[in-house]
Amino acid sequence: MSLDCSSATAHLQKYAKKDGLSAKELVDSTNFGGLTYNDFLVLPGLIDFPSSCVSLDTKLTKKITLKSPFVSSPMDTVTEANMAIHMALLGGIGIIHHNCSAEEQAEMVKKVKKYENGFINDPIVVSPEVTVADVKAMSAQYGFTSFPVTENGKLGGKLVGIVTSRDIQFHEDNTSKVSEVMTKELIVGAKGTSLDEGNKLLRSSKKGKLPIVDSNGNLVSLISLTDLQKNQTYPLASKSFDSKQLLCGAAIGTIEADRERLTKLVEAGLDVVVLDSSNGSSIFQLEMIKWIKANYPELQVIAGNVVTREQAALLIEAGADGLRIGMGSGSICITQEVMACGRPQGTAVYNVTEFANQFGVPCIADGGIGNIGHITKALALGASCVMMGGLLAGTAETPGEYFYRDGKRLKTYRGMGSIDAMQKTDTNANASTSRYFSESDKVLVAQGVSGSVVDKGSITKFVPYLYNGLQHSLQDIGVQSLEQLRANTDDGKVRFEFRTASAQFEGGVHGLHSYEKRLHN
Ligand code: IMP
Repeated sequence: MSLDCSSATAHLQKYAKKDGLSAKELVDSTNFGGLTYNDFLVLPGLIDFPSSCVSLDTKLTKKITLKSPFVSSPMDTVTEANMAIHMALLGGIGIIHHNCSAEEQAEMVKKVKKYENGFINDPIVVSPEVTVADVKAMSAQYGFTSFPVTENGKLGGKLVGIVTSRDIQFHEDNTSKVSEVMTKELIVGAKGTSLDEGNKLLRSSKKGKLPIVDSNGNLVSLISLTDLQKNQTYPLASKSFDSKQLLCGAAIGTIEADRERLTKLVEAGLDVVVLDSSNGSSIFQLEMIKWIKANYPELQVIAGNVVTREQAALLIEAGADGLRIGMGSGSICITQEVMACGRPQGTAVYNVTEFANQFGVPCIADGGIGNIGHITKALALGASCVMMGGLLAGTAETPGEYFYRDGKRLKTYRGMGSIDAMQKTDTNANASTSRYFSESDKVLVAQGVSGSVVDKGSITKFVPYLYNGLQHSLQDIGVQSLEQLRANTDDGKVRFEFRTASAQFEGGVHGLHSYEKRLHN
């Protein structure tokens, strides 16, 4: 006799063992070895909501919340100002690399912080005496096209004009002074003007910039129409609550000179610092965290990298506001091969996050993220964010020029522990060597490779693809937010299953003569 169909779910709850494994069972049952993202799958759940309702809000650190869990890696072929600006606009954050001088890095941070504002509180200002050539060079350097002109060339000086691209574009004499070409009839807002009022003034005057001046005509700030338009296009943008500036992260090492470097970065407006080391459990890093907490208590500190609870405990105790997990899982990495040290990333992420989350310390799964599925798995195992190098490499926003080889449009992507990166000598950079504790080595031991990746277009398309894909993935699992994913994983409601080698084969495209793998439109 068959059972009553209307009691199928009740029957399941009463008599049947749940399908699949809890995250703990999944990780604990790998006594034979560590787990990587490709070794398992998440079982599907009940869909009773559209994917567009899935919230990807998540914590980057104790005090910073983002609208998406995407972080770009501090590598010199991945994150400079342009990448950091666009990662923040799209709801994530970019961590600017430190394989450059402290001044260059601080300049990049400044560029991100100045990029989009309600009010631009520290606009770049010029004096009437500078030349058209100077302004053209500044436009190229900062990516702005308009500069307020004040008598003394400084913010706070008396406003005498604005010089814009229109004033200089067709002006052939580069030696002319700005005072000869600038626009002198200005529409200005009075100090105390609200952003709303400023917006209205901008629209009615049909101007691109609205200088805000005090009662003596001295420049105090600026409102920009292009920034307002950008505000509308990027609803997820990661911004500081108070200044409305984009959030920006930067990496530093743990040697003495990095203290001075950090001072410059903080002056440039840095929100979060990443202590960049292949092995974060060092006394240098512990001391650095304590020094930062004593000197810059407001600055959020992400420590790492770690792969064990023991390493994590030391950094948490020292005051870390977030942890970065991964050793040897990066796509350009040869650490596990050469050093015999590291840990398969799935196991590392589960163990460290399971420990750190109890202390309210969010973790970033760093390295080995090759697709949306890997992102889902990292987050399901307990990470709050994912850090990507290779997945973002080759996009338009990364540093470096495209080149052609074998009929393909490519960009360089290299490990920070590659010989190329460690030998970068054009600045007083030491990021790569210090990341691997190799500053004083006569013979460099590579822990990474240098290679190339195919052009992926702009992250303004690619990151929204990751975002939408992740929403669909969570919908399939039956959870409406990353918070729910973590909660349901913790209490065993989200179920996992191992993949055998043939299961992995079955899960890929198979049996076709040829096909094209287009990931998004
Ligand atoms: P990917 O996203 O898999 O390409 O990995 C990027 C991550 O690899 C970075 O965020 C770093 O943690 C790590 N990494 C960067 N350079 C090297 C290297 O030269 N050797 C080992 N790991 C590296």
